[in-house]
Amino acid sequence: MKIFKHTKQYIFLISFAIFLSLFQSTAYAENETEKNVLILNSNKNYNNFTNGTESMSFENTIISSINSKFIKSKKNINVAIEYMDYNNNLGDTYSQQLYNLYKVKYENTKFDAVITLDDMNDNAFKFMLNYGDKLFPNTPVVFSGVPSFDTSLVKGHSNYTGITKNPDIKSTLDVALSLHPKTKQIFVITDKTQFGIYHKKLVESLIPLYKNKINFLFSDESDIFKLKKEINNLPKDTVIYFSATADAYKGISDKVISQSSAADILFKDSRIPIYCRASSYINNQSIGGMLTYADSYGSSIGDLALMILNGERPSSIPVTEDTAHNYEFNYLQLKKFGIDLKSLPKGSIIRNAPIDYFNIYKNMFFPIAASIIIFIIALQMFLIIFNIYKRRLAENSLSDNENLLNTLINSTPDIIYFKNDKGIFLEINDAALRLLNISRDDYENINMNDINTSPYFNEDLLDEFETNDRKTWETGTIYRTKEVILNRREETNKIYDTLRIPLFNEDGSRKGLMLLGRDITEHKLNEKNKKLIKELKYYDELKTNFFSNISHEFKTPLNLIFSALQIIELKNRTTEGKDETSEKYIDIMKLNCYRLLRIINNLIDITKIDSGNFSTHFKNDDIVFTLENTVMSTVDYVKSKDINITFDTDIEEKVMAFDSDAIERIILNLLSNAIKFTPPGGSIEVNIQDKVDNIVISVKDTGIGIPPDKQASIFKKFVQVDKSLSRGSEGSGIGLSLVKELVVLHNGIIELESAPNKGSEFKITLPVKLLKGDENCNNEEKFADHSNIEKIKIELSDIYV
Ligand code: ADP
Repeated sequence: MKIFKHTKQYIFLISFAIFLSLFQSTAYAENETEKNVLILNSNKNYNNFTNGTESMSFENTIISSINSKFIKSKKNINVAIEYMDYNNNLGDTYSQQLYNLYKVKYENTKFDAVITLDDMNDNAFKFMLNYGDKLFPNTPVVFSGVPSFDTSLVKGHSNYTGITKNPDIKSTLDVALSLHPKTKQIFVITDKTQFGIYHKKLVESLIPLYKNKINFLFSDESDIFKLKKEINNLPKDTVIYFSATADAYKGISDKVISQSSAADILFKDSRIPIYCRASSYINNQSIGGMLTYADSYGSSIGDLALMILNGERPSSIPVTEDTAHNYEFNYLQLKKFGIDLKSLPKGSIIRNAPIDYFNIYKNMFFPIAASIIIFIIALQMFLIIFNIYKRRLAENSLSDNENLLNTLINSTPDIIYFKNDKGIFLEINDAALRLLNISRDDYENINMNDINTSPYFNEDLLDEFETNDRKTWETGTIYRTKEVILNRREETNKIYDTLRIPLFNEDGSRKGLMLLGRDITEHKLNEKNKKLIKELKYYDELKTNFFSNISHEFKTPLNLIFSALQIIELKNRTTEGKDETSEKYIDIMKLNCYRLLRIINNLIDITKIDSGNFSTHFKNDDIVFTLENTVMSTVDYVKSKDINITFDTDIEEKVMAFDSDAIERIILNLLSNAIKFTPPGGSIEVNIQDKVDNIVISVKDTGIGIPPDKQASIFKKFVQVDKSLSRGSEGSGIGLSLVKELVVLHNGIIELESAPNKGSEFKITLPVKLLKGDENCNNEEKFADHSNIEKIKIELSDIYV
């Protein structure tokens, strides 16, 4: 995160730089008015003695940095430089002469800013304080250097601002002493210039800090050879602090010896370590120290000057101090003195390190470069890890999906297989293996061609598969067919609805074939059953209609026979002398006619009820009266069987809606059964109970009873409990079913309580309802073709008299 944070900063910085550059080019396009800047350098111009390897002097480096700032600003700035050469010319007279010179020189020039450059002195600054107002009235002044600056110096000079600079000599001395712990004395080399004098003073001010530990020796010898002698005589436990200015030493014909050449002459053979002050002072012979930087200092001065040129008032810009110092060391000298790089202060710059660019500019470059590299590496690692993670996830989800697919394929009852273009099974699911009657192990370990060695292997099925696969490739499209598969294990034929999908490559060649098959055996069976049920229903309806029709057809000849018998009977009665035998046979014939009529009537009604064509004739009437009448009409018959019959009711009258014809049929049927199955000497009770909303009619006998296991079935059509039991009397097994249907038509229920040899009780509960107005139909025609007596004769015809 930290790296990312920094990256963001770098990205921001880069973007900002781009933004600035764009911004700057826009500013350039504005083509501002010309500005004039005068640089007063208290030193002299040293550049003319460079010998190729010489670097610029401290002040010239500053000037160069100021200039590059001005150029970058794209402002139209003219820079005039004056080298005041205070190094060798001092005093008020000299300053006065300079004033006179500049007065003449710049009489017609209006400067927008004056920059004073003083390295280890304040000469240019002081010159401006004294003559500035006269020379360049109201011109802002940017001063630099002035190590002994005090705000009181610029009191009354509101157009002054600047950046002071002090060398950090103490840090250089401290690092020298720490790297050479045996040091006893420090040899300080300065010169006789103002700068040298000032510098010596600075070092002297530090002596108390090293009191009793380090001895300080000073030399401002300008004769280089004499100085060299001094150095050669120094004891080994000495460190040199070299701070002579660039023009301190002169050679033959008074020519200034460059600083680096001077250093070579002075220290090349010396075994004494040399430390110095500024970056521009470091040379082949010096180890380094806490150096100050002219370029960064120059940039700061340039920025300040630009602010002024942009209109900022100097009084609004406080005087600051340039603190751009850094430890910088010469790798070659470190090696020479066996100094371990690790013992150097943190963040030190190493100069002359072998192809170690990063070390040289470590302080400037390394944090950014390292952060970028670390960021890139971290990013790469993150991406790699993320990709691995993503791949793992994908793999996991793929394997999950594969497992899921496998589970699905193998748990479905449908058969599935995949074959390649050569017809070799690539995958076959459990259902298909079960059908082929081979295990997965067999399938995986044995070639499909060898699999038929298994005794129960379904070879026919494999053949069937092969044949239909071939047809699929022939048709070249989805092929659907019904396959009847002989399942040898279960020995039942299975019917499969199969779908084959041929898969092709882009070039049209065969890729593979997929089969999906669904077991539709049951479905087919159901279809067959449904058809059968439909057929049965049709035949049942046909039968019902036939019964209904044939029953009516039975009735016509029966009525004719019946009428003929009645005529014979009448004729017999009118003729004298009774033929008793023929009368007896006429009675037998009549009784059997009644029986037939009863069966036919019951058949007609039950079929009518079944087909929903039975019509009821409900009417509000006294049900007690109807029931009593019906029961009373049977008394003679019952008594003839030596059975006692009683009728009892807890109400005299109960008017309700009922079909009197149906109620008569119900009671007569129940009584008929009761008489039939009650031996002589028994009794029959008919009871009516009023339950207000319901009426309960009970027909109870003391007969043979009905076994419990048969009680539920006696209401079903054509059921007789026991042929042998009913043999005492005739019957067709439809009486009770008709009774039940007629009770249901009244929305009533019929219940049975019976115990073998104790008797039976049929209880009918009918809801009490009354019809309103026109619903109450007046139905006269009940059994229209038969009188009441005849009805009884018909209903009781089963009872053999
Ligand atoms: P069926 O015309 O044969 O009488 P039912 O439907 O009226 O037909 O009666 C069915 C059978 O129920 C009879 O055959 C008989 O076995 C038995 N059953 C009916 N009523 C009685 C009863 N009161 N006592 C004993 N058995 C009876």
